[in-house]
Amino acid sequence: MWRRRKVSNEPDTAWTLFDLHCATGDRGTEPWERGFGGAPRARSHLGGQAKSTAARTLKDLVSIESGSGDREGLDRLSALISDRLKAIGGQVEFIEPNPADIYHMADTPKEIGRMVHARFTGTGTRKILLIAHMDTVYLRGMLAQQPFRIDGNRAYGLGVSDDKQGVALIIHTLAMLKEMNFRDYGQITVLINGDEEVSSPGSRAMLTRLGGEHDFVFSNEASRVASDRLSLTTAGIGAVVLNVQGKASHAGSAPEQGRNALYELAHQILQMRDLSDPRPASR
Ligand SMILES: [Zn+2]
Repeated sequence: MWRRRKVSNEPDTAWTLFDLHCATGDRGTEPWERGFGGAPRARSHLGGQAKSTAARTLKDLVSIESGSGDREGLDRLSALISDRLKAIGGQVEFIEPNPADIYHMADTPKEIGRMVHARFTGTGTRKILLIAHMDTVYLRGMLAQQPFRIDGNRAYGLGVSDDKQGVALIIHTLAMLKEMNFRDYGQITVLINGDEEVSSPGSRAMLTRLGGEHDFVFSNEASRVASDRLSLTTAGIGAVVLNVQGKASHAGSAPEQGRNALYELAHQILQMRDLSDPRPASR
């Protein structure tokens, strides 16, 4: 989910999705080895393993700072993700944003992070696209104050929910499929971008193209803590540039001939409230 300025450290919600498929078992002393929350869930051994190793992956992902404008951090993180996807059989490449495709906005970074693109070829027919993003809204240096930690049945850290859990979820879901030798798909494509938090200026063209080439697209943003539902739509953004021109006139001797641009702008801004729909069902 796109959030422009997130200031708080949100609890991870990835386990909602993982819980659909995974067991938690007591098989170690680390929090991730004991399982989250310790609730007995009789599911597959494989799922339990994936869940504990996914927590380690999440720690690795969160421990590399990767703000949208931090190209160096994004390079390191994308290298890590690439290695992990290669290790489970993906054909991986980095894709630099195509300058001709970049959608420039006021906050577009000078150097946009590269994308990680991975392909897994199966024996079936359908094409599935899995997307997540590796950038966060946090600035370099904030990690030291808020490092990754697990407390009870929740994981905390900068970007842990939005959206590093999504990257971990993809890696470990594919690892489980490989372990199960499940290949009944035509192709699974993974695209991890590094500019989602600034409206995907360098990856939106690629995302749109890939979306059109696949039968199904799953965005791996987390669902809400108490929800195990899949979201079919999500909030979007819109930007407009409004130029308001007034008309100068002497405020004392001929005010009726003037037009105050600030009055008109204030009027326009108040009307902008009507462009959003705050009802919960619309979110
Ligand atoms: Zn997000």
